[in-house]
Amino acid sequence: MCSLTMPAFCHFGFAAAVAWEAGKPLVIEEVEVAPPQKMEVRVKILFNSLCHTDVNFWEAKGQNPLFPRILGHEAGGIVEGVGEGVKELVPGDHVLPVFTGECKECAHCKSEESNVCDLLRINTDRGVMIHDGKSRFSKEGKPIYHFVGTSTFSEYTVVHVGCLAKINPLAPLDKVCVLSCGISTGFGATLNVAKPVKGSTVAVFGLGAVGLAAAEGARVSGASRIIGVDLNPNKFEQAKQFGVTEFVNPKDYNRPVQEVIAEMTDGGVDRSVECTAHIDAMISAFECVHDGWGVAVLVGAPSKDAVFKTHPVNFLNGRTLKGTTFGNYKPRSDIPGVVEKYMNKELELEKFITHEVPFAEINKALDYMLEGESIRCIIRMEH
Ligand SMILES: [Zn+2]
Ligand SMILES: [Zn+2]
Repeated sequence: MCSLTMPAFCHFGFAAAVAWEAGKPLVIEEVEVAPPQKMEVRVKILFNSLCHTDVNFWEAKGQNPLFPRILGHEAGGIVEGVGEGVKELVPGDHVLPVFTGECKECAHCKSEESNVCDLLRINTDRGVMIHDGKSRFSKEGKPIYHFVGTSTFSEYTVVHVGCLAKINPLAPLDKVCVLSCGISTGFGATLNVAKPVKGSTVAVFGLGAVGLAAAEGARVSGASRIIGVDLNPNKFEQAKQFGVTEFVNPKDYNRPVQEVIAEMTDGGVDRSVECTAHIDAMISAFECVHDGWGVAVLVGAPSKDAVFKTHPVNFLNGRTLKGTTFGNYKPRSDIPGVVEKYMNKELELEKFITHEVPFAEINKALDYMLEGESIRCIIRMEH
């Protein structure tokens, strides 16, 4: 471990949870974390929050396997040191790492409409840093791959400056770390993309953390009916806390769920938000919106072979299909403001946090997620 009296960027080992193979328990290892290079920042991670995408890439089902790898992308930490060219962050700044970035220079970053930066948009297959195509993690000289530019399951990580949101240092990192991915993704998908007006009916497909955050966005927007769709009936009770008013389990019907929803809502919902990542749910989420004005928003990350299929007349009749990454938030420009919404009590985060484990027991967090027990499990990095 580094001590504060040592010169910056010592090369001592730090604890990291390494995924050596698909689906095998993560192993806490001492790894070397290299100093930050040009436009990079080394961050001391204090809290992680497990997101389902970590589990997907750990299982590597429907995704390209890349191992050994340090997963983790929903976290909060403190800047330890900065590399060449980094001007906006200094040691001690509180930051949320984000899996998609904002370079502030490309056409996307300059557009008010887009948040998919040309340089730093999510790339799940890249396991190295952009600057030199190398990893900053190693064990006994052998590189360990990064994950979505964040790799936060480590006491220290190296992140491109464009993937770090500098936030209010008074914000509790063990709470606001959940804004680093899932909660912002769902909340923003509703508020920034679906944009339901007051009194709307909104369907939310998938009542995991992202779906519940989408429901929270609908509640904050003043939706009159929020229909939760999930295959697990145990999720409904919990979902009521997030404003979900009705529940539909597709397993209870022998016809497509879009027909069931259309019947419940006199022709379809005004808005739908899809948060399951399953292709059939994506199609249902589109086909269940009302003709003439309905808007469906896809949020879940699909498997690499997924194909979206619907009849073109569904579009001709005035339905709109949209998709969004990270709730259309620009990480550096917008996330500090979402943290302020929490600080001003406009957005509640505590209800998303159902479990907490020390870093040494990180595999328990994966179990809770796989068993469908947790919404968010906080992983405390320090003893
Ligand atoms: Zn995530
Ligand atoms: Zn950019």
